[in-house]
This record gives sequence, structure tokens and C-alpha cells, in this order.
Amino acid sequence: MHPLRYHAQQLYMDDQPLDDIAERFGTPCYVYSELFLRERYHAFAHALGTNTLTCYAVKANGNLQLLRLLASWGAGFDIVSGGELARVLRAGGDPGKIVFSGVGKSRAEIRAALEAGIFCLNVESAAELERIAQIAAELGVQAPVALRVNPDVDPGTHQYIATGLKESKFGIPLAAAASLYRQAALWPSVKFIGIAAHIGSQLIDLQPLGAAAARLRALYEELQREGMRLQHLDLGGGVGIRYQDEVAPSPADYAAVLDTALAGLPVRRVVELGRALVGNAGVLLTRVEYWKENEGKHFCVVDAGMNDLLRPSLYGAWHTIWPLRQKDLPMRYCDVVGPVCESGDFFAKNRPLASVPPGSCLAILGAGAYGFAMSSQYNSRPRAAEVLVTGGQVQLIRRRETLADLLAAEEGL
Ligand SMILES: *Cc1c(COP(=O)(O)O)cnc(C)c1O
Repeated sequence: MHPLRYHAQQLYMDDQPLDDIAERFGTPCYVYSELFLRERYHAFAHALGTNTLTCYAVKANGNLQLLRLLASWGAGFDIVSGGELARVLRAGGDPGKIVFSGVGKSRAEIRAALEAGIFCLNVESAAELERIAQIAAELGVQAPVALRVNPDVDPGTHQYIATGLKESKFGIPLAAAASLYRQAALWPSVKFIGIAAHIGSQLIDLQPLGAAAARLRALYEELQREGMRLQHLDLGGGVGIRYQDEVAPSPADYAAVLDTALAGLPVRRVVELGRALVGNAGVLLTRVEYWKENEGKHFCVVDAGMNDLLRPSLYGAWHTIWPLRQKDLPMRYCDVVGPVCESGDFFAKNRPLASVPPGSCLAILGAGAYGFAMSSQYNSRPRAAEVLVTGGQVQLIRRRETLADLLAAEEGL
């Protein structure tokens, strides 16, 4: 499911022809559908119900305008850095709905989070808990915290995005978490308010999430028997989407897994969804520069590179690629590659693609999450523009970087 369709042989996002956007804003260019994002957010928030704080995981796509929209719809936010905190606050996000995850929070980041009055810090080690307690004491506040436990379940996803296995750097092993809750229960400057976990990303089978929720529940009940009053369980994110032919879980499927695992438990739930909200809301537009043939192998060389969209290079991820104009052209098996000087700079390998002429544009689908967010200036390539399709209009939400932007931080020192 995505917001794209062909009409009169032209590819549209909602009511806007993408070729016009490529002409107007240039390529490479990210384009997002506000309508699609809004429908996804509301579908999850509605399925999960009012007892759930539905957070958006900012690291999937931190564009300010997208954050403003999500804030206006009532979303909470899952952040992993002081930079993301600054983005959410600038976008008008409610600090009382921010959870802060991440294994390496610095003193400055913890201080900023406490000063902003965020909802909860998800703590990943005993050492971090001590640091938070110390900074909270200095500030004269009580830090609201959850321990991020490592439930040791295999999410069945790519090894780089599996985070809940015992060999992973994330979280605190369940048994150690129980003793840390007991040990720190009476520290005056921290207040335990929940238990958190996040087992991985792009989960197509939700059973591991159900298993993780059940383990959190068992820990909650164990601590409750000892008199500890926790108010929420944070199940993290990770709900997968369709990139190729995956049968992705629906919001109702997801809610049902949590409802079953947590039935009858008097707690609030928190979720932190990134990809499931924004992944299929976005495409990357790129222009064909050249076709080349090396000993019978065809390459379609485009003007976007791995610096713009890293997922194929990093994870071998599949992204569907469609031409913006459908013509009756012969299909050709080719590698779709970028201009970056790395053999890993590709978007597709041995893929049938219409042999569109140089100068015409392609859309790389499913690029809304971990697309622009992971982009860089590698090879001294300015980062792409970002555009939002919004109710009959097209809005530039990040201008294309210039050569001056590339040099700015190194000049005039
Ligand atoms: C990345 C991340 C998420 C979001 O993951 P998605 O797969 O995009 O839903 C949520 N919580 C934490 C702690 C994360 O690191």
C-alpha cells in the first residue's frame, strides 16, 4: 500500500504528477504524501486505542514539517539524540509525550531532556541510570525512567536491525533489569514509571513482538508483587511494511498482538513506530543519466546515489523502481546504480526495467523511512530536496543543499 498510481501513463502521488515535481524541484528529490502519513498515523492510533501513547520514531525521518504534522495530530515522539529533541521541540511536539531511547546518551543530552520535561528516558545500562540520577539531582528534579530490557527474542529480521537478541548492544538483560529496578527503587532523583523494549525493525511476523510483550508483562507482574508501581509498558517499534511482496501486518493485526499479550493488565502502552508510518509515504525521484553496457551487462546510471538512499547498499534492501512515464518500451535486465565511487552504490541488481531514455525520471518506492534521514554528503554531493504533497498542493519542506552548504562549516575559521 502506497500513495502512487498511474493515470494516463503518468505516475501520480495523490493528485500530483511526479514528473512535474521532478521538473520543478530537480532531482534527486524526496517526495512524501501528507495524506498517506496522516492515514497511517490515525489507523495505528485508532487501532491501538486511547490507552496507548502512539509515538513516532523520529530517526526514521526527522523532517521538521513532518514532525509538525504529527505533533498536530497528537503523536508522541521517540527520540535517540539531543538533535532529535531539538527538532521535536522546534516542531511544537509536546515534551510530555517524548520518550528518549538510545544506548549512549551524553550528559548534555540527558540534561536537555530533563530540562525539557520529557515523558520518559528509556535507560540502557546501570551506568546510564547512575548518570541520569546524578544529573537529575543537580537539577533538583526527579527523572522519569523506564529500563529498556533485552527480552532475548529473535525478530527474524536483518541482522543489522535486530536489536533484542542477547548479543545485541541494546537494552539490559531481563534478570539484570529486575535487580536494577530493586536496587534503584528508592533513589530519590529517579522515578521508575515503566518498562521498555525494542526488538528490531521491519518485522513481518509479529509473533516475536508478542513474545517480547509477554516477557515485559512477566517482569511487570514480578515487580508489582514486590510493591513497585509502574504505569506503562513501551513495546518499541519495528512493525514492517511492504517493499516487495511482503504481507505486512495491518494496524489491527498489531493491536491484536499487543491486546492478547497484555490482556487484563492495568497499564498504559507506549509504541514507537517509524517505518510503519512514513516508509511508504515517500519516494525518491531520480533522473537517468546514462545507460551503459559492459560485456552484455546493462547498467542504468542515475543521478541519486548511496549517499541519498543507503538502504540497498547497507542492508541489500529491495526498493521497487517505477518510471514516471509509462511507455511501451522493451524491458531490460539491469543494475540501477548511482554516481558514487563505490561498487556498493546501487539501488537494484539484475532488475527488469523499461529502457527509458536518459533524461527521464524514475521513482524509487518505499523511501520515506531511513531514506533522507540516513543521507550524507559522501563524495561531496549536496543532499537532496524534500517535497510534501499536501491537499492539492506541493510544498518544498527542505531545500536542496548548495555547494556553499558543502563548504560552509570549513570556511572562515
Ligand atoms: C529505530 C527505533 C524505533 C523505530 O523502528 P521502526 O522499525 O522504524 O518502527 C523505535 N524504537 C527504538 C528504540 C528504535 O531504535
